Amino acid sequence: MARDPATMLGLYSLPSEPGSGSMKSRRRSSRAHDGVRTLLALLLAGAGGVGCAEQQHSRAPSILLLSLDTLRADHVGTFGYERETTPFLDAFAEKSLVFEHALSPAPWTLISHMTMLTGLYPHQHGVVTGDWALADATPLLAQRLSRAGYQTIGLYYEGWIHARHGFDRGFDHFESHASVREAEQHLERVLDDLDPARPFFLFLHLFDIHCGPLDPEHRGPIYDCPAPYDSMFVEGASELLPDMPEGKLWLYKGDFSSDALRGLTALYDGGIRYVDDTLRRWFADLERRGLLEEMLVIITSDHGESLGQRGNGINDHGGAYQEGLHVPLLVHLPGQNVGRRVVAPAHLVDIVPTILKAAGLPADARLPGRILTEELPPARPLLAENPASFEMVVDWPHKYVHLIAARRTIEVDLEEDPEELVGRELDPSAFEHRRGAVLEGLAAWPPAQPVNESEYGELEERLQEMGYAGDVRGED
Ligand SMILES: [Zn+2]
Repeated sequence: MARDPATMLGLYSLPSEPGSGSMKSRRRSSRAHDGVRTLLALLLAGAGGVGCAEQQHSRAPSILLLSLDTLRADHVGTFGYERETTPFLDAFAEKSLVFEHALSPAPWTLISHMTMLTGLYPHQHGVVTGDWALADATPLLAQRLSRAGYQTIGLYYEGWIHARHGFDRGFDHFESHASVREAEQHLERVLDDLDPARPFFLFLHLFDIHCGPLDPEHRGPIYDCPAPYDSMFVEGASELLPDMPEGKLWLYKGDFSSDALRGLTALYDGGIRYVDDTLRRWFADLERRGLLEEMLVIITSDHGESLGQRGNGINDHGGAYQEGLHVPLLVHLPGQNVGRRVVAPAHLVDIVPTILKAAGLPADARLPGRILTEELPPARPLLAENPASFEMVVDWPHKYVHLIAARRTIEVDLEEDPEELVGRELDPSAFEHRRGAVLEGLAAWPPAQPVNESEYGELEERLQEMGYAGDVRGED
């Protein structure tokens, strides 16, 4: 839906005065749901705990981790969006655990996926700019599962997810695609080739909500869904985009007209529906193959998207705001048809411990996350950051954002002010104390290692040419 930019000021980017405006929220009240107690009572009923143990499966379940790049939670129906962007995901949520307050560690593909696949906070894995690769001694999830006998498959959109940063480690098969159409061909092939005697881990990363293929002829890394999705929510939406060279649109940092915002949002939403319709087809295939009911399925995103709503362009993926960091998170348990909403705060660091548990592997006490299928603490301080611009602690509903360059700290109550329009200035030293207390309890991991430029320098150059390295720059 279109937003009036005048009501969505840049709380974390304005030099002095906090913004003001309507405090009305389109988001669902978290109080409308039962929380974890009912969930746990259900899941823990009986002797076996949750997951495969409860089902008495003779072997560990297969696992699908699906990352829908750039999907902000509040544009998903099950999280309260009015448009029919996600009929498939909404139905899937009805039989999954739905985490109402899932936080991404960073509004950037590289950092966030490294957290998703290591279970570590950004400052722990250290892959916080394009110059770094994961330390050889730090295990990726695929390595852990491969050692446990899993077949490991990574199907990904090539950009920041790349062997260059260590994302390929532990995958028997690691293959890139340029679009969801190509991903479909790869998926069919890998499913046909699976060894039915062993469980598999499939990491599936789709980029089509963000944009089409990154190539120099393309208009830039921005919403490019095919017909009829490009006109599904606003007829002729692409004609409403700003009159500027297409490649510049992504990097434009000014205000958009309300028509342009309407067009941008409609195209973004069309891309979501395009991917959602594709997933419906894929999941029907998984079901036909008899895989779905024996699989742990986790569906999430790496970060959200700003959609220009703060009058500050679109290329920071929403920065420190919730539109940048609040991500959908659905967990579908093997063999169970559980539809429950969890209001306890969750984070992408929780995915690896959850998968280790489902796979029957021992917990790794050095990981900061919790197991999503067990009772989560109702309050837990969680971290997010973008090394170029901000550090953050979210202790729901309190969000503390430290703006590094401005040396300012702002506190927002996300229940009272979900659009982050007001805020309260805090002493930065209080923020340091609060964040330091969280960091103190976290294990140290080997530092990241420099990317091998002689092997991978060309990719970085190509991303820079496309403007996609704009991910690095957010000012928020
Ligand atoms: Zn991304």
